[in-house]
Amino acid sequence: MTETLHNVDPDEIEKFERLAGRWWDPNSEFKPLHDINPLRLDYIDRLAPLAGKQVIDVGCGGGLLTEGMAQRGAIVTGIDMGKTPLSVARLHQHESGLDIDYRQTTAEQVASEQAGRYDIVTCLEMLEHVPDPATTIAACAQLITDDGCVFLSTINRNPKAWLFAVVGAEYLLNLLPKGTHDYQKFIRPSEMEAWARAAGLQLVDLTGMTYNPLTQEYRLGKDVSVNYLACFRKTA
Ligand code: SAH
Repeated sequence: MTETLHNVDPDEIEKFERLAGRWWDPNSEFKPLHDINPLRLDYIDRLAPLAGKQVIDVGCGGGLLTEGMAQRGAIVTGIDMGKTPLSVARLHQHESGLDIDYRQTTAEQVASEQAGRYDIVTCLEMLEHVPDPATTIAACAQLITDDGCVFLSTINRNPKAWLFAVVGAEYLLNLLPKGTHDYQKFIRPSEMEAWARAAGLQLVDLTGMTYNPLTQEYRLGKDVSVNYLACFRKTA
């Protein structure tokens, strides 16, 4: 049954529970996340230098981005509603010798307890899995300090995105398990921006992430037609 209690879709959490054991295997279903990780880490670190910052990673999963940010000197909290992804993340941080505070909770819950506490909020590849992304974005906005940054990433909604992110990734190239993504839940940059604006955020940067199936490489660039990353600050 799908319920929207606390803006969490149990069916979506279940998908990640099942796969979580393979989170750190770079040749598993999580390969795309491994491949994009250095790019998005550089992106975040360039727009909001990570060293010494208080960071919360919303929907952290097994901790790929979370660990990367801790390695760059950030003081990081990772939150997720999946139990298994979090246990994988906790185990892995021992191997890596990093100190990350992992918690099973939502952005909305933390925002109600610790508004204005974080310099940087990251919520990557998660918004397309929640019932009400606008509410999640509003919670992210509440979590930052007055000069903090919110980083969001997701998949655009248009025929090309459907072809690449669903047909290509799930059916042709088998990069992701079938059913990972629901086209209806993809988000246009204009929609993301409108929700962010309503939450008191302004867009600082919008950057595309493109995949070249021939070279099997991802790149950052101007093309936001499929995957994209966005950086927001509080409206002046
Ligand atoms: N952000 C990570 C993982 C993306 S996978 C990365 O980019 O590497 C999406 C993750 O979001 C899963 O681990 C899933 O359990 C989590 N998730 C989905 N809905 C959530 C919610 N409402 N609150 C917190 N975590 C959620």
